[in-house]
Amino acid sequence: MTAPTNLIDPFGRTVEYLRLSVTDRCDLRCNYCMPKGFKGFEEPPNWLRFDEIERLMGAMASLGLRKIRITGGEPLVRKDLDKLIARINAIPGITDLSLSTNATRLSVHAAALREAGVDRLNISLDTLDPEHFARITGRDCLPQVLEGLQVAKGLGFSPIKINMVMMQETTEAELDQMVDYCMANNFVLRFIEVMPMGDTGRNAGFVDLQPIKQRLQTRFGLVDGVVPGAGPARYLQSPDGHFSIGFITPLSQHFCATCNRVRLAVDGTMYLCLGNDHRYEFRELLRSGASIDELKQGVIEALGRKPERHEFNEAPEKIIRFMSHTGG
Ligand code: SAM
Repeated sequence: MTAPTNLIDPFGRTVEYLRLSVTDRCDLRCNYCMPKGFKGFEEPPNWLRFDEIERLMGAMASLGLRKIRITGGEPLVRKDLDKLIARINAIPGITDLSLSTNATRLSVHAAALREAGVDRLNISLDTLDPEHFARITGRDCLPQVLEGLQVAKGLGFSPIKINMVMMQETTEAELDQMVDYCMANNFVLRFIEVMPMGDTGRNAGFVDLQPIKQRLQTRFGLVDGVVPGAGPARYLQSPDGHFSIGFITPLSQHFCATCNRVRLAVDGTMYLCLGNDHRYEFRELLRSGASIDELKQGVIEALGRKPERHEFNEAPEKIIRFMSHTGG
């Protein structure tokens, strides 16, 4: 039997989901995410160690944390990630463990991830046009990413979700190509509105997903869909229910009222909201030898700081940290 949750924020929302950033480094430089030439990475001594992460996750799980998504930066650049995942997977109470990756290294690591207990993958892929991919990410490596996806599919990860950030220069042809590709491969597709994180996100330019949704609905004969546990995404699906497209619309239709998550950055800072600055520092607490009860107290205090909603629309200049730092 699952213990009742203690993870309730001041607005009555149950927080059972953590995005865990295991590094702020990345092998890509997506132009809306991390500025070119960025050097302000956390120094290794400030990275939470695996045993520290495990202790904090254990404390959170005993309070009611159920779902963890490993993210970054690019999580697959963190050495021995599969060993950390296996340790987290063994924590009682954690029932759902997934990973977000750009898939550049997925063909090499997929089998070890699966073995360690990851069932579900979210892959960031903004286009299937190799030149556009290279312009967005700063690297000409689309074939490597596509190979990683095929390896993961072959290993039975399910679902595999493709996250596509919508940019002003994304063409209708690119959208249609991505829908065809995901339909053919049985991948869930999700479009994401670019958020004004740091200078990069602000420069990328917001694209409203609502008209895109209407066009695709007609073009591919899709119907409104409901995907259980789908979080903030709103879905369209094929009439037979085999294929779905999610629309993650933090700006045009925000979903803060049902927010169930917090984020932990690699330096041990917990961010209570992606689009606000409320935070709680865990590194010193962990390194001062805090007991599990003291960690639990810290988690409850942190949740008490969770704000009601993001301020991307009202104060887009407010969030100066990049997504790669917070953990997307
Ligand atoms: N490297 C991993 C990956 O590519 O999935 C995990 C981290 S990445 C920061 C997580 C997601 O955040 C990616 O899908 C990326 O496209 C998205 N992202 C980054 N900056 C963003 C922004 N300003 N607005 C919306 N999405 C953003």
